[in-house]
Amino acid sequence: MIDFRSDTVTKPTKEMREAMANAIVGDDVYQDDPTIIELEELAAKMTGKEASLFVTSGTMGNQLSIYTQTSRGDEIIVGKSAHIKNYEVGASAVISGVSYHLIQEIDGMMPLKYIEKGIRGIDVHYPDTSLICLENAHGSGKVLPLSYMESVYKLAKENNLKVHLDGARLFNAAIHLNVDATEITKYADSVTFCLSKGLASPVGSMLCGTREFIEKARRGRKLLGGGMRQVGVLGATGLVSLKKMVKRLKEDHDNALYLANKLDLIKEFEVDFNRLDINMVFVKTNFDYSNLVEFLREKDILISGYKGQYLRLACHNDIDKNDIDKLVSNFKEYIERG
Ligand SMILES: *Cc1c(COP(=O)(O)O)cnc(C)c1O
Repeated sequence: MIDFRSDTVTKPTKEMREAMANAIVGDDVYQDDPTIIELEELAAKMTGKEASLFVTSGTMGNQLSIYTQTSRGDEIIVGKSAHIKNYEVGASAVISGVSYHLIQEIDGMMPLKYIEKGIRGIDVHYPDTSLICLENAHGSGKVLPLSYMESVYKLAKENNLKVHLDGARLFNAAIHLNVDATEITKYADSVTFCLSKGLASPVGSMLCGTREFIEKARRGRKLLGGGMRQVGVLGATGLVSLKKMVKRLKEDHDNALYLANKLDLIKEFEVDFNRLDINMVFVKTNFDYSNLVEFLREKDILISGYKGQYLRLACHNDIDKNDIDKLVSNFKEYIERG
């Protein structure tokens, strides 16, 4: 199967499977697992933070960050289309007891003036604002510019707020901006990134921040049931992700552009080049697509259905240019058959 549904579908590489088999492990609840210690040190270094914590998922990383940096009843500032708000089962309300001040993003960015308006003053009626959440790369496919990150961070600090960055695809953003990831993360107090998407590990995300924050978050992770024992078997794949897979993400971006250019030559397709910053192609189609997903599945190609008017096609480690050519020729065949 050629799978364009998401970069979450990546299978662990042969090197990862070998690393799992050979991993030196210990009891990570005792902070005794050498592989996890190495992974956490490397993730901290790559994000320019003092410390980091291996967590089961991006959702756990984001929610643990919120839980650690807010108090019950607080209000946090989040984008309307943010993963934290839409795709994490309402966890911020359940786990942290916070409510959202939601702002509609434009090109992935909450306008600064609305963030500023959203910060509560002191009044007996008001909840406390404690945290601003950003997402970079944004789920829309856009990468937030450094100047925007800097402005939000400055505003946060002027108002004594923390900034959490949902950097599920942090390294994709860094590649697009052609900077070291630390240039992005320096504008956030805490950051989560996924090992399990484009970086191809089977499990896991990293939460990074100050040593004090991470020690607090470590207790929160235990509370959530995320304290793991000989988890170096998973940490070992994370190390391969960081040492080997970060470098090759550029290939996914190049493949996405290759796919976009091919689709753009077909008159029934309209590629949204404005949000072609990372490994995902968003495309509108003007043909009857009611059987498209099934048609492609019979050709051993998986795509997710439409989201609104758009198809999202993700490139990743298990997709090469031949796979893309196969997808494009099958799209053509589908259209010609009518
Ligand atoms: C994938 C993703 C997450 C985390 O998802 P999990 O499935 O919990 O690992 C968080 N934020 C964004 C923007 C994502 O794309």
